[in-house]
Amino acid sequence: MPTQTRTVRISERAQSLKPSATFAVTARVRELRAQGRDVIGFGAGEPDFDTPSAIKDAAINALRAGQTGYQPVPGPPETREVIAEKLNRENGIACGPGDIVINAGAKHTVYLVLQALVDPGREVIIPTPGWVSYRPMAELCGGVVREVPGAIDNDFKITPRQLEEAITPETAVVILNSPSNPCGTMYTPEEINALADVVATHEHVAIISDEIYEKLIYGGVEHCSIGAHPGVAERVITINGLSKAYAMTGWRLGYLCAPGDGGVVARAVSRLQGQMNSHATAFCYPAIVEAITNGGEAVEAMRREFGVRAELIHGLLTEMPGVICPRPTGAFYAFPDIGAWFGRTTPGGATIECAKTFTEALLEEAHVAVVPGDDFGDSARRHVRFSFACSTELIIEGCRRTRAWLEEIA
Ligand code: PMP
Ligand code: GLU
Repeated sequence: MPTQTRTVRISERAQSLKPSATFAVTARVRELRAQGRDVIGFGAGEPDFDTPSAIKDAAINALRAGQTGYQPVPGPPETREVIAEKLNRENGIACGPGDIVINAGAKHTVYLVLQALVDPGREVIIPTPGWVSYRPMAELCGGVVREVPGAIDNDFKITPRQLEEAITPETAVVILNSPSNPCGTMYTPEEINALADVVATHEHVAIISDEIYEKLIYGGVEHCSIGAHPGVAERVITINGLSKAYAMTGWRLGYLCAPGDGGVVARAVSRLQGQMNSHATAFCYPAIVEAITNGGEAVEAMRREFGVRAELIHGLLTEMPGVICPRPTGAFYAFPDIGAWFGRTTPGGATIECAKTFTEALLEEAHVAVVPGDDFGDSARRHVRFSFACSTELIIEGCRRTRAWLEEIA
């Protein structure tokens, strides 16, 4: 008789998948706080505000009215209509409700688009530093990631020439993310258009434009949607969601707009979604309508607050020894280079070998949580991410602790 194994076998796919570095830091902070430790958390990439109450009411009313059953896979037509109108009006993207697919969070939306576009062996271009989940999601599809590093003295942005050089006959898609997580910086409209001009000459290449931070901008740079550029509009999949602008991370609501080729990408994503998670939560659709239609004032208040915090943390980080930090102009992240400290010994006796050991020691010894740059791409390994989605008091205290700790490093 053949010997039977006593444990289930985990697929190689799942075994090789790393946990999300951002969620890992957030979980660690929770754990330490539960043990009574006074930790200042610059880890979580989520607004510290509550969802505006009118948006909550829209969902509560729909729930009470019995909107509790299955919905059309891409979402109810009237909700998609409101999203399409917003994209036409605010982003200059010519589209209709048939080009929109709503899903449970922009993260899963990005994943489904990659599933729809990337066959095994095809290439996915990711400008780095770039969000931690892009690479794992591309690799789950069998895609081959080509990182294109943006220089720190260019606010981490890639140039049209770099993009041109990275495109090959095997390129399936380029992922753009402005404002950027983790960089906190943005492409100007001229820079976006110059990147679009490059892709316009390569008709086999699609663009995923992740614009989830579009509303949170405060540095004087205007947000520009590449999906409005006539040379590429048919090949752009614009991704957005409610999480960041409306402080709705836990609601899990994201959407895409793919107006090209008679809706072929939107239909492919709908097919995938219909077999995977069906659709977003039924009674949340009216909340999307409320947020997009009437949420402007609430967003503006949060945007202003993030602008104040950005200035504050940028000033405090720049004053620290051995820290170089481009000015954040969007989202709620600062992404300083702390590589000057590599090879040094911390007050607690640890050796700082890399960004990961830096963050571990900072958390252990100074009780400040930040995310190591490592999983944001090879060019991010000298960096750590500070998410300033917390009060000015916490920013001041967290930076005071960090600075005092750095000043004691041997
Ligand atoms: N894109 C970027 C760049 C992000 O930072 C996030 C953060 N979670 C997402 C997409 C996904 O957002 P969500 O799934 O909450 O809609
Ligand atoms: N996007 C946020 C972050 O980068 C939330 C966590 C996640 O989805 O990765 O922290």
